[in-house]
Amino acid sequence: MFNLILFGPPGSGKGTQSEKLISKYGLKHLSTGDLLRSEIAGQTPLGLAAKSFMDKGQLVPDEVVIEMISSALDNNPQAYGFLFDGFPRTTAQAEALDKLLSQKGTSIAVVLALQVGQNELVKRLLNRGLTSGRSDDTKEDVILARLIEYEKKTAAVADHYKKYDKVVYVKGEGSIDEIFDDLSSAIDKRSRA
Ligand code: ADP
Repeated sequence: MFNLILFGPPGSGKGTQSEKLISKYGLKHLSTGDLLRSEIAGQTPLGLAAKSFMDKGQLVPDEVVIEMISSALDNNPQAYGFLFDGFPRTTAQAEALDKLLSQKGTSIAVVLALQVGQNELVKRLLNRGLTSGRSDDTKEDVILARLIEYEKKTAAVADHYKKYDKVVYVKGEGSIDEIFDDLSSAIDKRSRA
């Protein structure tokens, strides 16, 4: 299997690049944000519990997203590999993911970390809010709360994978195609290694 994490702050382009990467590399896309939004749309108990956190720009509790990812892995036994988008977002989630993958005899091959400046992130998220229908993109205070959560809890995930020399930084500003080319060459280098 070939499993990768697309990592970076809210608004760094993970969703856009994920779509292109899964079609180029034949990976199964697992976005916890998308999975949570579909639970909310289906008005499931999990969705209702998650919504109150998401509306405030806070992370959903670890056990909720870990369980969701665990089922998604079990439901896709035939996948060639997974692209994790928006997960793991805490060190506890990273440790849980490593364990789940190792139980399946596999691991994370590479963590691609998109780097984008704070002003650009806020600009992109507000802009996305005009068309995305996502209420967490329309309010500047919720956007700032998400960026603070990222610094406080999620940035440490890169340190976790740095210990295993799995992190590659990619500049997330420039054209979508330029960024995609940089991500692709980082993957090609790692999958040959
Ligand atoms: P963005 O990266 O733009 O913030 P996402 O769609 O990845 O958007 O996530 C939206 C919201 O869903 C987050 O602000 C958070 O509340 C929740 N969420 C998504 N993934 C996770 C996760 N792995 N752990 C906890 N909460 C999550």
